[in-house]
Amino acid sequence: MKDQKIGTEKLNKHGFLDGIGNRLLSLIGLTFLLGTVGIAIFFAHDQEKMILSNHERSLTLLTHTVGSGLQTIMQSGSAEIAESYIEDIKQIKDLGNIRILRTDGVQAFTDNKSIKQVNEIMGEEQYPEREILSGLKYSVSELSTLKEVVASGQSKSVLAQEEGHTMMTVFYPIPNAEDCAVCHGTENEIRGVLEITTSMQQAQNEIQSMRIRILLIQLTVLVVILTVVFKKIRQYVVLPIEDLSSSMVAMTQGHIRQEADVDGCCEFRMMAACFNEMSEELARTYSGLQNERDKLTTIILGAREGIVVTDRSEEIVLVNPAAERLLGKSGPELRANGFRNLIDNPDHFSAILEDDLKSVPDIVVFKGRMLQIQATTIFSNEKSMVGSAALIRDVTQEKKLENELRYLSTTDALTKLFNRRHFDVVLDEEFKRAKRYGLVLGLLLFDVDHFKKFNDTHGHDQGDRVLQAIGRVMNGHFRDIDHPCRYGGEEFCAVLPSTGLEGVANVAERLREKISDMRVDGLQVQISIGVSIFPNSGAKNPDELLKMADEALYDAKRQGRNRVCFAPNKV
Ligand code: GH3
Ligand code: MG
Ligand code: MG
Repeated sequence: MKDQKIGTEKLNKHGFLDGIGNRLLSLIGLTFLLGTVGIAIFFAHDQEKMILSNHERSLTLLTHTVGSGLQTIMQSGSAEIAESYIEDIKQIKDLGNIRILRTDGVQAFTDNKSIKQVNEIMGEEQYPEREILSGLKYSVSELSTLKEVVASGQSKSVLAQEEGHTMMTVFYPIPNAEDCAVCHGTENEIRGVLEITTSMQQAQNEIQSMRIRILLIQLTVLVVILTVVFKKIRQYVVLPIEDLSSSMVAMTQGHIRQEADVDGCCEFRMMAACFNEMSEELARTYSGLQNERDKLTTIILGAREGIVVTDRSEEIVLVNPAAERLLGKSGPELRANGFRNLIDNPDHFSAILEDDLKSVPDIVVFKGRMLQIQATTIFSNEKSMVGSAALIRDVTQEKKLENELRYLSTTDALTKLFNRRHFDVVLDEEFKRAKRYGLVLGLLLFDVDHFKKFNDTHGHDQGDRVLQAIGRVMNGHFRDIDHPCRYGGEEFCAVLPSTGLEGVANVAERLREKISDMRVDGLQVQISIGVSIFPNSGAKNPDELLKMADEALYDAKRQGRNRVCFAPNKV
């Protein structure tokens, strides 16, 4: 079954979706905005040029029309009508200014220069001179435009700022036509210049409203396009990524079984399919691992051995019931005490933990039990430490059995003395030690005299009781470092480390006397003793030493029994 997709909340909290959706949208929006602004600027510029050009053309046309009308009036010889014609035109709304200029820059009809010239040519005082003379002239800059128009014979438009307004002025050259020359002569090709000025306010208003329209259209188109693009981005990119990502986040939070339903484009569907496959595989592996872990946990919890596991910082993370029982502490107590305090002896525990050569004794007596502690550091495949573990075994019973077994295997059941096997081992060891360190070593061997007859007379059981009594005497007779043994039958021996001839002779004689003085059920037995000493006897090995003691014992028997004989001194 599919786990809950709790990752979505996390994604939204981190602004992931907002991030990718908005970033894509911002990018597209910015690109589109730049594109449309570019187009709008180009278009607006073009429109502005067109509006200005239309305005200029209209003004030029008007100027030409006025100029032609003026010329017609003048040719009819009615200069005063021309003057009032210009005054009438000035009344036209939105027309800034209209002037007629002579080629010398003086405004027409403001002095008597032309009247005098005409009267001179015509030979009579045809036109009366004016009484009020203003003789208005152009400024130098205006004069240069005037001269340019006169020289070229072409009309010209000029833009200028006047009290914060843009003004357009068209200069129209009035040709000195044939009819004009009758009165004014043929001296100049251009008779004068008609100058008409209008405000560009109307054109500027048109441009301003055109800009606003373009801006509004642009904004509307931008909003519509971005809305559509956002919806598509969300549908084809954001939602598939959101679905896939929330599944991934949920997976990282431990909900391994995930199934992403991606309806987006082919790549997203492929990603979702791969992800779902991966999730399934992971879930299978995880489930397998969980089963293994459950098995392991069951084994650990049910184990008779105590198990304590730590993490890499040596914090205890697992304590099984056996460990609590063996160490006599609860899990929380053990955790509080710390890993190295498991056996209340951190130094010893650390030595065991860090003992690679296994040379530190790993069996400790703890709370009346013998515990075997195996502590080890756990490393990962990459050789980094991942934790530590301690295995605690109660070996009390085991050690007891081992000791019993060792006792049985080295002890004679009848006399409770060491047996022949132990004697052979001890004699070998002590001989080597004496030889290596230049020590003396004494060996005595004795045999009960006429024991066969004793058995025959008093019974075998009585014979056994005598042998047991001899065992008790021997166990109390020797030092702790000596090894009293039953050699076999009614023969006994003792290995006496670091004991020379005099010492062994002393011990042997006192033993013989003790046994001779002893009474078992009122009965007396005597013994004959043979003694050999290393290195005095010259024995090269334990067998030779034993053989020499045996020969000395044989001598004692031959010499009449109940005595101690010594192997000959050969050194
Ligand atoms: P000798 O003075 O020359 O030693 O004479 P002996 O009779 O002791 O001769 P020998 O050592 O040959 O005899 C050993 C006897 O010890 C034979 C056997 O009946 C007896 N014997 C050996 N082992 C045991 C035992 O475990 N219990 C008893 N009761 N008798 C034993
Ligand atoms: Mg014997
Ligand atoms: Mg005997």
